[in-house]
Amino acid sequence: MTDASVPITQDLLTIPRKLQDGPTNLVGLTRHGLHDALVEAGTNQKQAKMRTGQIWQWIYQKGVRKFDLMTNLSKDYRSLLKQHFKIDIPETVSKQVSKDGTRKYLIRIAGGHEVETVYIPEQDRGTLCISSQVGCTLTCSFCHTGTQKLVRNLTAGEIIGQVMLARDDLGEWPKVDHKPLNTTRLLSNIVLMGMGEPLYNFENVRDAMKIAMDPEGISLSRRRITLSTSGVVPEIARTATEIGCLLAISFHATTDEVRNKLVPINKRWNLSTLIDALHDYPKVSNSERITFEYVMLKNINDSDDDAYRLLELIKGIPAKVNLIPFNPWPGAPYERSSNNRIHAFSEIIFRAGYASPVRKPRGEDILAACGQLKSATERARKSAKEVAAETEN
Ligand code: SAH
Ligand code: SF4
Repeated sequence: MTDASVPITQDLLTIPRKLQDGPTNLVGLTRHGLHDALVEAGTNQKQAKMRTGQIWQWIYQKGVRKFDLMTNLSKDYRSLLKQHFKIDIPETVSKQVSKDGTRKYLIRIAGGHEVETVYIPEQDRGTLCISSQVGCTLTCSFCHTGTQKLVRNLTAGEIIGQVMLARDDLGEWPKVDHKPLNTTRLLSNIVLMGMGEPLYNFENVRDAMKIAMDPEGISLSRRRITLSTSGVVPEIARTATEIGCLLAISFHATTDEVRNKLVPINKRWNLSTLIDALHDYPKVSNSERITFEYVMLKNINDSDDDAYRLLELIKGIPAKVNLIPFNPWPGAPYERSSNNRIHAFSEIIFRAGYASPVRKPRGEDILAACGQLKSATERARKSAKEVAAETEN
């Protein structure tokens, strides 16, 4: 079913690919983009490929942000670069550290907007949960981000910039002129599960993830990156063909009636349309299962019948079901299912042969858990629309 007449999104204010005039930011350009920018600035065509590689390594392998530190480039060439380019990542406004070690960064991007990025350390990995939009145009009723009005897409530089600023904070760049660090990575995984719907900002997310995967830079395996979507069906196949990372689906309900309320994009692409797209997902295989995320909401979607319906729906799809205990936020209209209920649900899924882990809430004391992200200033102030509406009355 496709019903484009149903309003399920809020307005997107701007969709900038390039935000400012003045020197071009090199962060976020693809390899091709960097090459072309260097040529445009006067780099000799013959040397452009080599220069691209050198500059790429300085920025993404060594974490260098000053042209003067790029010692394998001549002084003249460095001053040419300085005239035309800058190397900028978003500014970290504040950092909060949870008692469980989770770190939440509030970052400011061009235009003064703010988004949040969360680092979650675990025994065998460290996962960075990154944002792809300021707020979200969708309005899932259990998600705090969905109540935030102000929205714009992040640029590729602002998306990969979150990885770079977390590596700065974790001290995870090799020292210039020293051998690369050869330890277990602190930042080993990326999940696109912060603020925003990544498939509504596809090109920028793709370009940023290509940079994250590039072997001459941050060099994360595509299997260590997971993109989570609420179900933007027309873009799902591109995730496999153009990015190649793992896919997670915010499923959350087993009937259209309930899913329409929880994940309103379901009114445009309903359960059967979504499931068809997942059956066709070009890369599905047992080694690359699709993760079905399922938020556990008391008396809404957590019955045994729901669990059995879920099994019917995902039949034939290599899948894993990730149960997320609801993370409450001030004014939220739902409650978390009881632990007993969550485990009974998980057991039904598990007995049918699927992994069904229950996600451990992390960083709750600093409102950093899944679905709680909403920038501090947004939380504190009323939206422009609300203020305008009040003045009219
Ligand atoms: N917009 C994307 C990615 C960001 S949300 C998406 O919806 O998939 C990341 C995950 O957190 C999604 O599965 C989302 O449904 C879930 N989530 C949102 N609010 C939540 C909350 N309050 N408690 C638990 N999970 C939540
Ligand atoms: Fe947006 Fe995802 Fe939150 Fe829905 S759950 S409002 S798609 S961030």
